[in-house]
Amino acid sequence: MSKEPWQEQIETILAQAGNRSDDQQTGAIAAPLYFSTAFRHQGLGQSTGYDYSRVQTPTRKLLESVLATMEHAKYAYALSSGMAAIQLVFSQFKTGEHIITSDDLYGGSFRYFDQLTDHYQIDFSQWNGQDYAQLTQLIQPTTKAIWLETPSNPTMKEIDIAKTAEIAHAHGLQLIVDNTFYTPLLQQPLSLGADIVVHSATKYMSGHNDILAGALMLNDATAAKELTFNLVTTGAVLDPFSCWLLLRSLKTMPLRLKQQQINAQELVAYLQKSTAVAKVLYPGKGAMISFYLAETHAVDAFLQQLQVISFAESLGGVESLITVPDEQTHHDMSVAQRRALGITPNLLRLSVGIEGSVDLQRDLAQAFAASEI
Ligand SMILES: *Cc1c(COP(=O)(O)O)cnc(C)c1O
Repeated sequence: MSKEPWQEQIETILAQAGNRSDDQQTGAIAAPLYFSTAFRHQGLGQSTGYDYSRVQTPTRKLLESVLATMEHAKYAYALSSGMAAIQLVFSQFKTGEHIITSDDLYGGSFRYFDQLTDHYQIDFSQWNGQDYAQLTQLIQPTTKAIWLETPSNPTMKEIDIAKTAEIAHAHGLQLIVDNTFYTPLLQQPLSLGADIVVHSATKYMSGHNDILAGALMLNDATAAKELTFNLVTTGAVLDPFSCWLLLRSLKTMPLRLKQQQINAQELVAYLQKSTAVAKVLYPGKGAMISFYLAETHAVDAFLQQLQVISFAESLGGVESLITVPDEQTHHDMSVAQRRALGITPNLLRLSVGIEGSVDLQRDLAQAFAASEI
């Protein structure tokens, strides 16, 4: 789907995604779903544009065009998970090269970067995301890229993408941004100067806690050629049915995120007043909130008491979820590093859904009351 002149607003583009894609055949409003893994050739050297489904399928191609439009990108890939998207980015790098990452990252990325060092001798340095003199000092002759997540996870620090991009480009480095938390509806890293964006589409893009998917977007043709080659070779593509479900999910994403953000802001106001909460971390937008439970309350009792919010380790869906990063998402970090980042056993990360915010507030209040020590 290319952006048409009458499609000015992202809400229109997403609501209409896939409509008119089958006008030649049937006029279907909902996009058709093609499961075929193989596509017939009319003769030698001829192709409909589709040959074999690891390379491309009509349903994935449609989804990828929508994903590209969302991030203002020329190229987009729909992958089998967020980690597959991250692995595809790293297929560009070689033994002996060096990458700088922000320090407060998704735990799975952290674990993967550790493995790249152990197995492939790709070196990593960590930057706190705020001190630009420190960033410049970390750059070595072998440095290839800066990797960041903003807001950071789980402590919600924002990093200035435009400023980081300037420094990256002055040193010939790629800037790669994991945009899972804000989504392209709240932040478009490529427009701010980043070179590559990745998403765990499992989170806000899917929005229903029922699709595992990843996305990667970029504008550079040379990098896209290499990534396409690597992806076609290894095959961590998104299957047709998940592509179709994700396309369907994206149609309501602006509505979902709007309500999630309203709910989150109401809950932040509530949590900031609650004596059961020592501190609230919220960057001012989005629907992810971290908070420290006060010492007067027991974490396990609080989690067990919740009736509406589920104790489960994902985010971005219509159902509110809560996690303990120290025990779950960030457990592969050393204890020392977790403590240095402020990831303590009483830090909770709440992904706010689209339930009624009064019910969410009541749920928190009764669980606070029941978990007092
Ligand atoms: C979940 C997540 C990932 C990994 O994505 P999967 O879809 O679980 O593979 C990467 N980055 C962030 C910020 C995430 O929240």
